[in-house]
Amino acid sequence: MASITLRHLSKQFGSTPVIRGIDIDIRDGEFVALVGPSGCGKSTLLRMIAGLESVDGGDILLGERRINDAAPRDRDLAMVFQNYALYPHMTVADNLGFGLRIQGVPADEAARRVRQAADTLGLGELLQRRPSQLSGGQRQRVAMGRAIVRQPQAFLFDEPLSNLDAKLRVQMRTEIKALHQRLGTTTVYVTHDQVEAMTMADRIVVLKDGVVEQAGAPLELYDRPRNAFVAGFIGSPA
Ligand code: ADP
Ligand code: MG
Repeated sequence: MASITLRHLSKQFGSTPVIRGIDIDIRDGEFVALVGPSGCGKSTLLRMIAGLESVDGGDILLGERRINDAAPRDRDLAMVFQNYALYPHMTVADNLGFGLRIQGVPADEAARRVRQAADTLGLGELLQRRPSQLSGGQRQRVAMGRAIVRQPQAFLFDEPLSNLDAKLRVQMRTEIKALHQRLGTTTVYVTHDQVEAMTMADRIVVLKDGVVEQAGAPLELYDRPRNAFVAGFIGSPA
């Protein structure tokens, strides 16, 4: 596990600034929710941390290491997207283990990690199924399992629950939180759902137009929003 430090981070697409000088310190083991309206730069920021978008200005540190220019696979971070794609022709077990094979993890170690992740996520009975034979929630667990087996320094979630129905969302929220408590892995969790942020995160960072409006513990933001934007965002119904 590791801390993630963003220093004066900036990014533009063409001539349009999208990330405009962001400073965030994420402690080792902390669960930080990144919230804000559509288009404010949440996904771009997460993709920059993951190495899927280049950095135009500033620094990204993983622990003490500056990773601005590191290839995604060298960052030791695991990302879970909203539109996670499982390999349809592979079993759950192979979906979980595939990335490890590519990483060169020995087969017996890979099998051990797959078993462990499957147990953690309640997928133990489903290892021989294919994605088409799973429910939406089960597929989402497999997507998380693929991140967990890698034993990364940090998890990066980009609205992982937004394709699930309301009931399942509530359940997965609880499961992801429990998972974090168990594994203690540093987590950056992007969501536009303030209830998710309020109930899951140690700290919430509110973004607006590529800058941090306010960052603090959920209750701190709720009790003392810095301005009407934060108040409106935190206080509005899901
Ligand atoms: P969010 O995830 O908060 O909804 P994004 O990070 O996806 O926001 O997008 C932030 C802004 O950057 C938006 O205005 C979006 O249109 C723009 N943007 C995102 N990706 C690209 C890209 N690859 N090329 C050009 N503009 C982009
Ligand atoms: Mg997004």
